[in-house]
Amino acid sequence: MTDIPLKLFNSLTRQLETFTPVHPGEARVYTCGPTVYNYPHIGNMRAYVFADVLGRTLSFKGYELTHVINITDVGHLTDDADAGEDKLEKAAAENAQSIWQIARHYTEAYWADIKALNIREPAKWSIATDYIPQMIDFATGIADKHCYELDSGLYFDVSTVSDYGRLARAHTDEGESRIAPVDGKRNAADFAIWRKTPPGEKRQMEWDSPWGKGAPGWHLECSVMSGDLLGFPFDIHTGGIDHREIHHPNEIAQNQAHCCTNGLDVAANSGANIWMHNNFLVERSGKMSKSSGEFLRLQLLIDRGYHPLAYRMMCLQAHYRSELEFSWEGLGAALVRLKRMVQALERLRANGNANEISEVADPDRVFDTYIWKFGDELSSDLNTASALVLLESMLGTTTLDAERVLKAANQMDSVLGFDFSNVTRADLRIRPKAATITEPEIETILAQRKEARATKDFATSDALRDHLAAQYVEVMDGDPLGWDWKLGA
Ligand code: AMP
Ligand code: ZN
Repeated sequence: MTDIPLKLFNSLTRQLETFTPVHPGEARVYTCGPTVYNYPHIGNMRAYVFADVLGRTLSFKGYELTHVINITDVGHLTDDADAGEDKLEKAAAENAQSIWQIARHYTEAYWADIKALNIREPAKWSIATDYIPQMIDFATGIADKHCYELDSGLYFDVSTVSDYGRLARAHTDEGESRIAPVDGKRNAADFAIWRKTPPGEKRQMEWDSPWGKGAPGWHLECSVMSGDLLGFPFDIHTGGIDHREIHHPNEIAQNQAHCCTNGLDVAANSGANIWMHNNFLVERSGKMSKSSGEFLRLQLLIDRGYHPLAYRMMCLQAHYRSELEFSWEGLGAALVRLKRMVQALERLRANGNANEISEVADPDRVFDTYIWKFGDELSSDLNTASALVLLESMLGTTTLDAERVLKAANQMDSVLGFDFSNVTRADLRIRPKAATITEPEIETILAQRKEARATKDFATSDALRDHLAAQYVEVMDGDPLGWDWKLGA
């Protein structure tokens, strides 16, 4: 069967494009990483689940992947308009800690979420503050032709490159209403690439530069680290859809200036051939914003008894370019779906398939077709939703050779990333933090409920079910999983 070309949606051209690697056989991907001034929320983690599936798909299709994710520990301001404070300086002041402690703490929290979601480690985590000299070099190289100095810093003049803002489909004029001007800016969309420490002030993070003591602007770090580590042009740059509006257009402008090429009709002039953006995870009550105080962290899901891979499932059920609405019911349904898959695999491992037919005419062809179709779905701009359905259909076919099904499921899991060869149903049951009920108590109530149901006393049965539910014990009648909750160790 012929291999299917990988089609990906390029935000720069707003079109599906066939992936053609810059270096034959290789795929080089850069992903904008987190700003480590607070815990990541689950919306942020959607961006990394997406980048992970992209990377795994590239590996599945045989490309040698080099993936870089950065850690923003300097430069990201509380305000996109070059006003406001550095997010890390602010968090450090509020917590009476050093910036380095803050950055370390939240980087580790982010890495814990990465692991819990079974996101593969990139080839490199690049830390912004490790690249300050390279940032100064880069800025020095473009300063004469593309930048001007104000009291507050060195600014990039967006009128010096062609097609500024094409990624956002915004013109510089429109930008004027989007970005509040700093006094003296030539164009409203101009942005700081170096921010000077105001006279008389001392920042925790500041470095000497040709423009005085200060810190780099946020956009500079991604241009520098992506170019240094992957070489311009590289294959794919990813981030959340908010980055399509300001951060990535500004990165692109810097890359154009640096590479001495203009004109975004040639995508490679932007620094990367393909720019990809995941849409947002939304939550109606507004608990997705880190600045809102209380927000949805992966740990909160775990505390409520949901395995983190249920959240991974939730992400994969939607297309990465669609908005995804978070709900606890949706998360619960995703968990049940995952449990069913894991249960089916456990059954196959233990008992084989129900009506296994050893004499299928051409077994290799059957499985090749499954894998081919699976690859086809992923090659269609990462259609994970259909890929999941395909896996389920294979698991639900009782006439196939069990060993081969397990092998094919593992191949599919190399992209889906549910860790099927290690995760058991028991692992997926997590004791909710607030649960106090003991196992014998559960057993007693379940026995009473069974009795009530046998005598068709549904009122009592329902009351017992509600009683258990109030203590985080889920009872799922008619579900092959039966009651589904277990005390932790
Ligand atoms: P930040 O730590 O704020 O720089 O964001 C890290 C990543 O999460 C970026 O790629 C953002 O575009 C992305 N992001 C932020 N909010 C959401 C959300 N609600 N849903 C999906 N991605 C998001
Ligand atoms: Zn970035």
